[in-house]
Amino acid sequence: SMTSPVNNNVDTDTNKKPAAVIVSNTVNLRTGPGTTYSSADQAQPGEKLAVLDQKDGWYQVSRGGVPFWVAGWVVDVAWEEHEPIPEPEPEPKPVETPQPKPEEIKEDVIKLSYTKDETGITLKMTSGSKLNPEIEKTASGLTYTYKDMQIEGLNLIKQDIGSNQLRMRGINSGNDAIISVEIPAGVEFRTETLDKGKTEAIIIPNFILNIERKAFGSTGERIIITTIAPVEYTKTQQDDKVIFEFKDLLLGKARSQYSFNSSLIKGVTLEELSGKNPGVIMTIATKELGQSSAGVGSDGAFNIMLRGKSETRQVRENLIVLDPGHGGSDSGARGSTLTEKEVNLDIALQVGEILKKKGYEVEYTRTGDTYVGLQERANIANRLNAAVFVSIHNNSFTTNDKMGTETFFYAPVSNPDLFLQKDDRERLARNIHNQLLSKLRRIDRGVKQENYSVLRNTNMPSALVEIMFINNPTEEQLLKQSNIRALAAEAIAEGIDQYMKGR
Ligand SMILES: [Zn+2]
Repeated sequence: SMTSPVNNNVDTDTNKKPAAVIVSNTVNLRTGPGTTYSSADQAQPGEKLAVLDQKDGWYQVSRGGVPFWVAGWVVDVAWEEHEPIPEPEPEPKPVETPQPKPEEIKEDVIKLSYTKDETGITLKMTSGSKLNPEIEKTASGLTYTYKDMQIEGLNLIKQDIGSNQLRMRGINSGNDAIISVEIPAGVEFRTETLDKGKTEAIIIPNFILNIERKAFGSTGERIIITTIAPVEYTKTQQDDKVIFEFKDLLLGKARSQYSFNSSLIKGVTLEELSGKNPGVIMTIATKELGQSSAGVGSDGAFNIMLRGKSETRQVRENLIVLDPGHGGSDSGARGSTLTEKEVNLDIALQVGEILKKKGYEVEYTRTGDTYVGLQERANIANRLNAAVFVSIHNNSFTTNDKMGTETFFYAPVSNPDLFLQKDDRERLARNIHNQLLSKLRRIDRGVKQENYSVLRNTNMPSALVEIMFINNPTEEQLLKQSNIRALAAEAIAEGIDQYMKGR
């Protein structure tokens, strides 16, 4: 006859879900929920395995990203509410090709190279031995002569500095190497000897090439600062003043003062700091400042945008619009059994309930299995003058090995309305993303900018979350579980709440 094992561990209360099993004796991990299924592996004492599912007194657990079944009566169960999520399994990494080691340069050989970063442009001449150049100042720059040395590899480096060019050209002349460096007139530079004499460097500190102002809309102002290399900056706002601190930057061709015929900008001053923390402080004094934003455009120039208070849009400060992705004839991504549209809706409705309990007004772009066009989703939020819009999705990929959480916002320099919300949009995305990571503990795929219709067409700060990959077997298993969906909803609501409170 058959005897049923006594089952102490599997809780029949459906509200209480096991989080993990703790193994104290070596146990079989089987391919299905029963002893008739084959044992595929064994778990060792001390292992803690996340529970994916349960059936007939057996637990489905995740081990190294692979699901197995283990008998409920041979393990202990952990019920923690916030510990249930399997540790993210690292994604299989592409086989890394070892980085070539910096090759040894021969003693009588010189190599030319350059770097361009926040501090400026550095041209380098490097050898395997201590260099002893003759340096001659010429009308257009410097000439380095190295006796009994030969240049190998790159022999011409060109870098645009505005409409001029910085050039380093090397030739082998008889037994000697001759390197001429042409530096555009008026450009500051210094020479340095580095690496115990094995490198001669010419350093052109980062500086401002040009400052240009463009007006847009009725009060919008755009200031474009062109520099020879990317800038590092901090932005602060004091009353109606916006202040930028640029590290390692010289005024260059900029003036110390600008005044425009503007209803918004009273004046702009720039001050060059020398000493230990060199840089430029730029102060923009305004009248009735509404919004301000700054960042680097696709052309590499630093853009500042400002807009007056009078152009501030009407906002229902307490209203959040939630957008469950897809619906109706559009199922979105698919797992083996789940469809994205149903998961998105379930989670979005739960997010809304949590937010309502926190005192927010909540509207949805859909509350049932209906088709809503992308433009219409943004229109709904725009018509309602919502304070914030969050689109909820789950991911998929052409292969099923991708996992993790990613969150998007969109605020390009090319679209002033969106760019002026850059800080808010990014903060909304980051708050939600960080909450999802800390509660679900999936792989961090990052916060990214993407030109999605709902992000581009919403007038208010907006974000789009991809919680997990529905076509990844491990993550589909997670998304099937009501406690995991509840946790995702809690995370998204918490992120939105954080954002709203931080405005
Ligand atoms: Zn989707």
